[in-house]
Amino acid sequence: MPELRYDILSGTYTITASERSKRPNDFRSAQEHKEPVPETDPGCPFCVGNESETPPEVYALRDSGAENEPGWRVRVVPNKFPALRPTETEEVDPGRVDTQITPEVDDTSMYWSMPGIGAHEVVVESPLHNGTLGDYTVDEMTEIIETLKQRYRVLCDDKYIKYVQIFRNWGPQGGASLLHPHFQIIGLPLMPPEVSTEMFRFREYESKTGRCLMCDYVERETEKDERVALRNEEFIVLCPFASRFSFETLIVPRKHSVTFSELDNDKARQLAEVFASLFRAYEDLFSSLSYNIVFHTLPTPRRSRKPPTDHWHIHVYPRLNVEAGLEKGAAVWINPTPPELAALQFGGKG
Ligand SMILES: [Zn+2]
Ligand SMILES: [Zn+2]
Ligand SMILES: [Zn+2]
Repeated sequence: MPELRYDILSGTYTITASERSKRPNDFRSAQEHKEPVPETDPGCPFCVGNESETPPEVYALRDSGAENEPGWRVRVVPNKFPALRPTETEEVDPGRVDTQITPEVDDTSMYWSMPGIGAHEVVVESPLHNGTLGDYTVDEMTEIIETLKQRYRVLCDDKYIKYVQIFRNWGPQGGASLLHPHFQIIGLPLMPPEVSTEMFRFREYESKTGRCLMCDYVERETEKDERVALRNEEFIVLCPFASRFSFETLIVPRKHSVTFSELDNDKARQLAEVFASLFRAYEDLFSSLSYNIVFHTLPTPRRSRKPPTDHWHIHVYPRLNVEAGLEKGAAVWINPTPPELAALQFGGKG
């Protein structure tokens, strides 16, 4: 019997269709062997030696070389084709920018718009064109996480930016346009609806129970131990109860933590360990998997207000099942892989 499950973070529903239960081998397209990717590609703007093909770097970790020269381990550059532009660019008239105004449903807001300001950066995570998250050492992964945190902090300080979205697209179904491994960071001039919904749900839960929704969820899942994919001292990886996607996972700090920007070096290392193990497992299960990684984390409050009710986390959405009519039209998802089965494949108890 299929089961209709409710997701406590997003408020959406998923039909967990266990009779269609799918194991890694059933996802044919994610198992197709592709041509091996070379270590460097002369035509790739993110490869070593092609630094002049990107806008000048804003941050880099280097063994040698000057800015915009080879010798880097991780390199951050503004996106050459940005979705949003910083306010310093000529096309933006700061007089027209008021990020306090939000659209309302009334007769004047029918055509609400504002200039597309913000930021769009690319974190080139490795000099290797064929690097993957499952291949990196813990040291390398720690440096990538530390770099994401540095840029996250800088962009959060921009007065026009309301929310900083860190994400990584991988594979053709994940929307990756360049093969060279990279994260992206977009600074948005508004609080996006997905995050507002989660914030609202955290607040609602806290007002009813006095506790943090995520802390309680993690505690419950740890006790049950049916959907835990892996864990270390500081982080846990869960296959969410109402997973929308097959083999979806959620990476969460085990101790209450409001924002990614407060991650210290030891925790960054533990997060790197979890990333390395999780993506090694994904790459072992599927030879070519498309996915999106999405960070949900609020900026540190600017003034000494009460800290927001939130607990940061990272979603991993493998693109194994497609968003079709029911998903698009009703935000009800059909997931053919029960999360308990997914957890088992990751080495959990299931
Ligand atoms: Zn490359
Ligand atoms: Zn918490
Ligand atoms: Zn979330």
